[in-house]
Amino acid sequence: MTVPIKYKTREKTKRVILHDSHTRPDVCCTEDVPRWSVLAHEGGLKMGILSIGYQFIIERDGSVTECRPRDLVGSHTPGHNMDSIGVCLVGGREEDGGEGVDNFTQEQRRAFLRLFNELVQHYGPLDLKAHSEVQRFRHRDHPPCPPIDMDLLREDVALFAQGIDLG
Ligand SMILES: [Zn+2]
Repeated sequence: MTVPIKYKTREKTKRVILHDSHTRPDVCCTEDVPRWSVLAHEGGLKMGILSIGYQFIIERDGSVTECRPRDLVGSHTPGHNMDSIGVCLVGGREEDGGEGVDNFTQEQRRAFLRLFNELVQHYGPLDLKAHSEVQRFRHRDHPPCPPIDMDLLREDVALFAQGIDLG
């Protein structure tokens, strides 16, 4: 018998934590995400697969998939799931097991800015952090998650909020 897992509702939302999928540019998750999402909506645990821990995944073409419903506690960053929303950018590697590379597309960046802005409208002011800014990895040479200039991204987020179109 399958016992449905009930994910808890998050009581506070203070920040968005950004991740990447550590995959090559030719890999996308569109085939897997709907399958996982369906499993999640059917009650969580089935065939031994838990629902994806991120609330959102942003594909290479900029499409955004809501995985775990945004008001529920995610499982993406140990110690920070109770007050944050996890967003995963698909990409970040040029080869399997390779170095972290900022190879995210313009469509993904724009989609992220729109999504972040939308979340702020909904939850109020939110902090933006990279996974690797809030959690120390066990292996010191683990590439940052995501391999992206976060200060620049935070600047873009601020500009976007002021209605400045970044092209
Ligand atoms: Zn991560």
